[in-house]
Amino acid sequence: MDLSKIYQNLSTQPKYRLKQIDKAIFQSLIDDWNDVTTLPKALREKLPQEADLKIDAKLFELSDETTKALITLEDGNKIETVLMSHSDGRRTICVSSQIGCPLGCKFCATGSMGYIRNLTSSEIIEQVVFFARYLETKNEKISNIVYMGMGEPFLNYDNVVASIRDLNNPDKLGLGIRHFSISTAGIPEGIERLADSGLQVNLAISLHATNNELRSKLMPINDKHPLEEIFASVKNYVEKTSRRVMLEYLLIKDVNDSISDAEKLAKILDHRLLMANLIPLNPVEGFQASDNQTIARFKEILDKRHAPYTQRHTFGQEIDAACGQLAGK
Ligand code: SAH
Ligand code: SF4
Repeated sequence: MDLSKIYQNLSTQPKYRLKQIDKAIFQSLIDDWNDVTTLPKALREKLPQEADLKIDAKLFELSDETTKALITLEDGNKIETVLMSHSDGRRTICVSSQIGCPLGCKFCATGSMGYIRNLTSSEIIEQVVFFARYLETKNEKISNIVYMGMGEPFLNYDNVVASIRDLNNPDKLGLGIRHFSISTAGIPEGIERLADSGLQVNLAISLHATNNELRSKLMPINDKHPLEEIFASVKNYVEKTSRRVMLEYLLIKDVNDSISDAEKLAKILDHRLLMANLIPLNPVEGFQASDNQTIARFKEILDKRHAPYTQRHTFGQEIDAACGQLAGK
């Protein structure tokens, strides 16, 4: 399904027709033009040949909580999208923004596969529509969309934001803007642009280390944009938007989980709009998750200093569907 092709084919159609079609795609979630009975027959016959609605995907129902889709794009490249079904009823879609990722973080499977290209906004939206269709068969609906799959969203800013605007548009999917989250490895330009965009999405920064030396070792992009630069942008963002920023912190055994790491993190969190999200590492070669005792000690220090944090429940670890394990395999 290539939305830009669909709209191209409809460029001479009146506005109300486009609205009908958006409704069919995003709300009725049709995957066959013949089912759009509101369309004139000629169009219903022409569209399947020029702009079909099929999404080429393989579905992996990995557990009650985790469902992964391996989507083959028109050019043959493959991307992964994950549905997380939370016990409280939330249905979160984790979308990819790039094929691979150029940033090469050491703990990330996507990073080690290299970079192929940016996704178009249509390819981002397609991932969501795929799972919207899937959930519809279970009488369920998407409640959140997180840009935490393959790739760095702020290296594909325009297409990411275009996809959010479409998915938020009440004439299309109509998901509330506060139900979107973007996670970035720390691209100041993207943070600044988001601050100026007026889009009230949630922003998360992959922090993972509290000093430049360690962070550069784990995340080579830190050499180009060190912590000072990232925090300057984050400060500007919270001042402009009054919105909270989440600092993602992977707990990696003997790498960033010491008492002094926890104390430094607590110091960073001494700001009413910053909050940490502690993430147990999904093991990849060379890195292990911190053990429970160390995690407990880490949290104790944060608690003692009244540093706000949440702990992420990891999904899909056993089956390569968790964050940082998407590699289009
Ligand atoms: N490129 C963006 C978004 C995609 S990665 C970013 O880096 O923020 C989404 C999240 O998964 C990030 O917080 C990333 O640090 C995390 N992640 C990467 N590898 C991981 C691993 N092995 N285990 C757990 N989380 C991981
Ligand atoms: Fe790219 Fe994010 Fe993985 Fe780093 S963690 S390599 S930025 S996808």
